[in-house]
Amino acid sequence: MPKPLTDQEKRKQISVRGLAGVENVSDLKTNFNRHLHFTLVKDRNVATKRDYYFALANTVRDHLVGRWIRTQQHYYEKDPKKIVNGWQVEEADDWLRYGNPWEKARPEYMRPVHFYGRVEHTPEGVKWVDTQVVLALPYDTPVPGYRNNVVNTMRLWSAKAPCDFNLKDFNVGGYIQAVLDRNLAENISRVLYPNDNFFEGKELRLKQEYFVVAATLQDIVRRFKSSKFGSTEVVRVDLSTLPDKVAIQLNDTHPALAIPELMRILLDTEHQTWEKAWDIVTRTCAYTNHTVLPEALERWPIDLFQNLLPRHLEIIFEINRRHLERIANLYPGDHDRLRRMSLVEEGDQKKINMAHLCIVGSHAVNGVARIHSDIIKATLFKDFYEVDPHKFQNKTNGITPRRWLVMCNPGLAEVIAERIGEDYIRDLGQLKNLLEFVDDDSLIRDIAKVKQENKLKFSAYLEEHYKVKINPNSMFDVQVKRIHEYKRQLLNCLHIITLYNRIKKEPNKNWTPRTIMIGGKAAPGYHTAKLIIRLITAVGDIVNHDEVVGDRLKVIFLENYKVTLAEKIIPASDLSEQISTAGTEASGTGNMKFMLNGALTIGTMDGANVEMAEEAGEENLFIFGMRVDDVDAMDKNGYDAMEYYNRIPELKLAMDQIAGGYFSPDQHDLFKDIVNMLLHHDRFKVFADYEAYIKCQDKVSALYKNPKEWTKMVIHNIAGCGKFSSDRTISQYAREIWGMEPSLERIPAPDDPRQ
Ligand SMILES: *Cc1c(COP(=O)(O)O)cnc(C)c1O
Repeated sequence: MPKPLTDQEKRKQISVRGLAGVENVSDLKTNFNRHLHFTLVKDRNVATKRDYYFALANTVRDHLVGRWIRTQQHYYEKDPKKIVNGWQVEEADDWLRYGNPWEKARPEYMRPVHFYGRVEHTPEGVKWVDTQVVLALPYDTPVPGYRNNVVNTMRLWSAKAPCDFNLKDFNVGGYIQAVLDRNLAENISRVLYPNDNFFEGKELRLKQEYFVVAATLQDIVRRFKSSKFGSTEVVRVDLSTLPDKVAIQLNDTHPALAIPELMRILLDTEHQTWEKAWDIVTRTCAYTNHTVLPEALERWPIDLFQNLLPRHLEIIFEINRRHLERIANLYPGDHDRLRRMSLVEEGDQKKINMAHLCIVGSHAVNGVARIHSDIIKATLFKDFYEVDPHKFQNKTNGITPRRWLVMCNPGLAEVIAERIGEDYIRDLGQLKNLLEFVDDDSLIRDIAKVKQENKLKFSAYLEEHYKVKINPNSMFDVQVKRIHEYKRQLLNCLHIITLYNRIKKEPNKNWTPRTIMIGGKAAPGYHTAKLIIRLITAVGDIVNHDEVVGDRLKVIFLENYKVTLAEKIIPASDLSEQISTAGTEASGTGNMKFMLNGALTIGTMDGANVEMAEEAGEENLFIFGMRVDDVDAMDKNGYDAMEYYNRIPELKLAMDQIAGGYFSPDQHDLFKDIVNMLLHHDRFKVFADYEAYIKCQDKVSALYKNPKEWTKMVIHNIAGCGKFSSDRTISQYAREIWGMEPSLERIPAPDDPRQ
């Protein structure tokens, strides 16, 4: 009689049988050995009991993982989404929680950054003393070139409290405070201010700006001194050749403190004369302006400065004294000009105008599209242009064709390569060779086919991630960008309401079906922008559930718009909305991404739209509305929104619906602030362009009915995209501002025998 099995033997049999469906015993052993080897890094000669236990536990856990993940996915999909009732709700993005695999900390290059304290003028020179120190810890990220063996470095800085931070004034109870204060110091690099085109004069922001500048400049000077160029036999390295090797491009005024900081280093540490130091600074620095909106311009209160950066304030005052002395000599008796051009703005609170500091401290100043560079010369920086016209340049923005075509739209990249080869990826100007094929039916067919595939793919994505079903045969009409009054998402919204009313009025007419998608983030403190999002979602709620309308009009608000979403939606778009008030959008780059991906543009003559129309032919874009001159004239003569409201019945109807609660039946006055703004204090003149916009949209709808003509126009646009490569932009910065020629020297690959 066979001996009965022990409990342990039974369990073993059951578990082996249980596993049989999944994996046999020899696989189990293999996996156990794999974990012992690769996970625990042991072999059987040295493994302990605990190692065997862990190897077994890992092997068993592997069996649970698939089910575990699937279960959680199931729960997640059942879970209601967080978007709350059509309002934008912010969520913290702790993106470093799990580490960043691309960055490498470089603690060996850590640098101290000083704040607060006071300035001592001594016979030996100027000393900035009694400061608080925060350490700047560098993190390097590799930036590979496109198939050229080049890998550059992007160096970012993290704030770190020094070991002895506040610990010297130890006493009973002081310890806890000292530990808490370490957090305060490290807050400097904790958060990015989320505003778009808006200046918020917070001390923490000024600290951030100085922190990055001070760390970077120390790094620049250290590297220059240790380079072959800087380190000669002479003991003291002369910084007079710094501008020959180093260019500091001030990307907006946010790093403007580089100017007084480099002066401080040259004067107080390197003991150069003012004249010598100023020559080095102005030859090294150049400034790019990014906006003309007055609320976006940095003007720091002097009190903040005096407290946080007393030595820098002294230096700025001296820069200003010499600057105004020069202007006074050029324009004797013109006191108003001195006031206008001063780096110090008088008023209730004295402020430093950082753009003025940048212009005075730079050898080159540029805007980011031709119209924008012209506007800053004629208005914002007119006085400065008059005295130093040679400083003013233009550098039209660009986008990288690697990310914004090859990576995000491989289908289109391939269709193009089949006609003109692959060289256009490095030399985007070659896209014009497509014009040879503009009447070629096979190209028209292929371009339309890729677009349709992209639209189907994006529809599936929307269905999966946003739980909305859309009609992939409708026109995908897309406006994705930060939500801001000047970008005029409200104008788009008025068109949506107008279309809706028209369809309701004549439901049997042959309407061109549209899916109108609007996406973007509002700055968390920008009330009007958040209300604009709420209006779009409210309009969507009414339109999307109206059975008369059906799938001829759908309105989708895309939350959490970011590069990853841009890469998906742009290749799937038919119509690109670039409808800012003329004179307000410096360049825009979204406009270029859409153009390169075969969307047609409906837009104003603003920013880079102007050059897009020039490159593709104005007849190949849907250009409408006021030009900059019209807007200026209206500013002089006065803009009367009520006049448009009373004269244009479709506009009046749309506004009355918004104001009367048609789209917010539970709260009739929900949009009163928007209504009041549009009617009485709209800086961006939405109504003045309404009629022209609607008429232009009618032309868009008509053309969409003719797919062949539509696609031909698309080909003209793709062919006209060459100018908008960032390769062209960067080489112009290099040649025309930094005084460099692109290097043709070949860098060998690490495994290249020629190295
Ligand atoms: C390109 C891009 C922008 C800029 O868009 P504009 O239309 O030029 O304002 C903004 N956000 C994301 C995610 C982008 O990719």
